[in-house]
Amino acid sequence: MRADPSRLSPIGLATKTIQGAGRRGQWREAVTTYHGLQASRLEADAVSCGAVLQACQASAWKLACSFLWQIQEASVELSLVCCNIAMSLSGQRESWYRTISMLIWMCSIAMRPDAQSYTPALGSSRTWGLSLWLLRQTRPNRILSNVAVASMARAWQWSFDLFYDLQAARPLPDTIFLNTFLSSLERSEQWQLAVSVLQASLKGSPVTPNLVSFNACLHACGEAAQLDQALQLVRCMEASRGPSPDVISYSAVLNACAKLVQWTLALDELGRMQRRSVLPDVVALNAAMSACAEAVQWEMCLHMLTTSSGVDPDSVSYNAVLKACEKSAQWALAMSMYWQMARSRVGCTTATYNTLLSCCQRSTKWEHATLLLSTMLSQHVLPDIISFNACLGALRRGSQWQQAISVFHWMPHVDVRSDTVTVVELFGALAAAARAPQARRVAASLVACAPLVRDCMQPALELEARRPTGLAVTACDCLVSHQLREPFECQQLLRRHGLRPVLRTLRRARWSEPSGRALQLRDPVLERQHSLGASLTKDALLDLEGREPELMPPPWMLRASQADASPLLLWLHEDPPKVGAYLRPVQVEHDRSSHAERQALLSLLAREAEATFRDGSQDFGDFRGAVRLYVTHTLCISCLAACYQYKALHPHLRLSVGFRVL
Ligand SMILES: [Zn+2]
Repeated sequence: MRADPSRLSPIGLATKTIQGAGRRGQWREAVTTYHGLQASRLEADAVSCGAVLQACQASAWKLACSFLWQIQEASVELSLVCCNIAMSLSGQRESWYRTISMLIWMCSIAMRPDAQSYTPALGSSRTWGLSLWLLRQTRPNRILSNVAVASMARAWQWSFDLFYDLQAARPLPDTIFLNTFLSSLERSEQWQLAVSVLQASLKGSPVTPNLVSFNACLHACGEAAQLDQALQLVRCMEASRGPSPDVISYSAVLNACAKLVQWTLALDELGRMQRRSVLPDVVALNAAMSACAEAVQWEMCLHMLTTSSGVDPDSVSYNAVLKACEKSAQWALAMSMYWQMARSRVGCTTATYNTLLSCCQRSTKWEHATLLLSTMLSQHVLPDIISFNACLGALRRGSQWQQAISVFHWMPHVDVRSDTVTVVELFGALAAAARAPQARRVAASLVACAPLVRDCMQPALELEARRPTGLAVTACDCLVSHQLREPFECQQLLRRHGLRPVLRTLRRARWSEPSGRALQLRDPVLERQHSLGASLTKDALLDLEGREPELMPPPWMLRASQADASPLLLWLHEDPPKVGAYLRPVQVEHDRSSHAERQALLSLLAREAEATFRDGSQDFGDFRGAVRLYVTHTLCISCLAACYQYKALHPHLRLSVGFRVL
C-alpha cells in the first residue's frame, strides 16, 4: 500500500523526494532537498538523514561523512542505522582505516556498534590481528564469522582457532564458513589439516561439507602430490558418501598424477571420469598430458592433443607436448608443434619458448636458439633466466663464443639477472673457443666482460655450491693459460667451492680397506666434476705430498716418450688381479678405470702385493722409498683419487706426481 503524499508531513515529503533522488543516483538533488529542510527551519529526523546518506553512495563518501558531522552538530539524534549506512559505504570503498575510525567515533559518542557495523569493518580488514580484535569486540553471528574467517585466510592458525571456538558457541558455523576455512588451509598448503577437518565434518558434525569443501581438500592434496589421499577422497565421493565428484575433483587427482609422473594412473582416471559421464575440461586434459610428458610419452601426448574432442587445447596443452619432445630429443617435432601453435590462435608463452630453447640446446641447434630468443622479444613474450641459460647452452655446444657474449650482454637490458648456470655456460663457450685459433680474441673478450662475470659469479656460486663446477674449472684453466688470472676472483671462488670439498672427501675416506665388492668409488662431490683443472690439481698434489708437483717433464720422461707405446697399451688392458679394489676409480661421464695413472699405480701395487701376500700380511704400510709418476696432461678427478688412495696405503712412501699443462 502506498502512502498518500498529501497526508505526509513536510519532513515525510522531503524524505520521500530524497529517497527518489537516491534511487535515480542523483545525490546532488538529495543533498539540496535536505538543505532546503534546514532553510525552512524544519528539523530533519534520523530517517531523512539515513536517506541522504544512502543517496550519497560510494561516489560521495566524503560528503556522507560531512553529513554525519552536520547531523551531530544539529543535535539530531543519530541512529545506529545512519552510522551503519555510512560504515557500509566506507566498507564498499575497501578502506579499512576509514571504517575503523568510524567505529571508534561511534563508540566515542556513546553509541554501541552492532554486528552490522562490524561486518564492513571485518570485510575490509587485511590483517588477521585486526580481524581478531574486531571479532572480539562483539557477539559474533554467522555472517560476521564468515566474513572474519575470509579476512583471516592468510593466517590459517587463527581461522583454525576461530573454527573450533565457534563449534562450541552459538550460532554454529555453516558450510560457507567451513569452505572458507578449508580454502584458507588449501592456500597455506595445510593438506593434512584440511583432510582431517573434512573427515571430522563427515562424522556427524552439524556442518555438512559440500562439493566445494571436497574440491578444496582435493586441490590441496593435488598440489602437495598426495595421490593416495586424493584417490581416497574421490573414491569416497564416488561411493555416495559425499557429493558426486565433478571435473574439478578429478583434475586434482590428475594433478597429483602429473606431479608423481604416474601417467598410466592418469589415463585410468581420465577413462574413469568419462565412464561416469564427467567430461574432461582443458585443465583435466592438461594435467593428464603433463603426466605423460614427464614420463617422456610423447606419442601419447600427441595423441591426446589431436583427439581431444570437445576441449580446445590451450598453450599449456601444447607446452606439455613440447616438454615430451624436449625430453625425448624430438627437435623436429617440437618445431612443427611451434609452427602449429603460431598458425592456430594458441599464444606462445615464456614456458613454450623455454622448452623449445632447451630442445635446441639438447640438439645443438644454436642458430634456432638465437632466432627463438629474438622472436620472443618481437612477440612481446619476456624471456627469463631459463630462456637465456638454454640459449647460452646451445651456443656453448656450438662453440659460438661471440654470440654467447652478445646474449650475455643482452640480459641486463631485459632485467634478467644471471646465475651460476649462466656463468658456467658462458665460460664453457669461451673455453671451447679458446682451444681454437681465435684464442687471442677470446682472451680480449674475457677481459672485457670480467667485471660482469665476477659480480654474478660470487653470490651465485655461494648460493648454489652444489651445482657442477666442471665447466667453470675448464674455463678458469683457459683464463690461466692466457695469463688472465689477475682480473678474476674466480680462482678463489673455485678453491672454496671446487677444491675444498674434494680435498675433504679425499682425505676423509679410509682407502686401505676396500669395502665389499664396490668397484667404483661413489661420492657425489667427486662425481660432479671431471677434473680440478691445472691450478687446482697443483694445489691438490701439494696437499698430498707437501711440495709443489713437477710441471716440466723430467729427463726420464723424455726418454720414455721416445719408446714404443704398444707394450704400454697391452699393459693398460686390464686391472692386475687382487689389487684393483684398492685404487677404485670415480665414474664421471664415463668409466675411468683404465686411465694410465691408475694402471701404473696398480701395477706397482700388484708387485708389492706379491711380496706382502706371500708372507701372510696384506699391509703395504712398511714400504719406504719414493715413487715418481709423471703425467702428460692434467690429472682427472679419478686419477687424483687413485693417487690419494695409493698414498693412504703407503704412509712412509714419498709419492711425487708431476704433470704437464697442455
Ligand atoms: Zn684419469
